[in-house]
Amino acid sequence: MSNPVTRRSILKWSVASVAIAGTTPLHAESVAHTLPALSYDPAGLEPFIDVATMNLHHDKHHAAYIGKLNEALATQPRLSTIGLDELMSTLANIEDSALQMTLRNNGGGHWNHSFFWNIMTPAAKSGKPSDKLMKAITDSFGSLEKMKTAFTEVAIKRFGSGWTWLILKDGKLKITSTPNQDNPLMKGLVPDEDLGKPILGLDVWEHAYYLHYQNRRADYAAAWWNIVNWDAANKHFGA
Ligand code: MN
Repeated sequence: MSNPVTRRSILKWSVASVAIAGTTPLHAESVAHTLPALSYDPAGLEPFIDVATMNLHHDKHHAAYIGKLNEALATQPRLSTIGLDELMSTLANIEDSALQMTLRNNGGGHWNHSFFWNIMTPAAKSGKPSDKLMKAITDSFGSLEKMKTAFTEVAIKRFGSGWTWLILKDGKLKITSTPNQDNPLMKGLVPDEDLGKPILGLDVWEHAYYLHYQNRRADYAAAWWNIVNWDAANKHFGA
């Protein structure tokens, strides 16, 4: 273990360097979570998701989760130094139930939306499942079409706000759903059968589709397959 005085000095020095570089550290031992930029033009998902929804969803909703997450972490030096994946999988260990709920909702919101933007792409670049992923889909569901149908049904049936996931669990693919901003990483908070490695994830909160689809979640869920980024899904499956 390093000498704490020396380590503190180093941190002060490195924070000064970071500040010059233009980011905004919360304090000496943490760095604020930031809104990831979209890797595509938000209008590029039209006509399946409209640009107004994308802008509002990314710039306002996702940004709000990050703002509240950073606000909560500002008073939690230990939690503010761990990565977002680790924060998700260790939330159940947090004894302060109000803090846990704040991080569950807003940390979950940050993780889920970061994943969501990445799992979509303009339709022309949608691609297809790799041979390896296609075999796993066929093994678990019979065919790609059957998997899509089952996934869309789960998305439609999610009562209220939440997410639908294709996860890898114990070497097999499975479709699950979580409420609010919960996700399959939240060990000890979501049921064990819903834990796994996310391959695909669909936001079924009304804010994700209401401007264009109004109450027609089924149409949104069906249209979404046109803009799935299969290259990203293949990477999640292979990694
Ligand atoms: Mn959302």
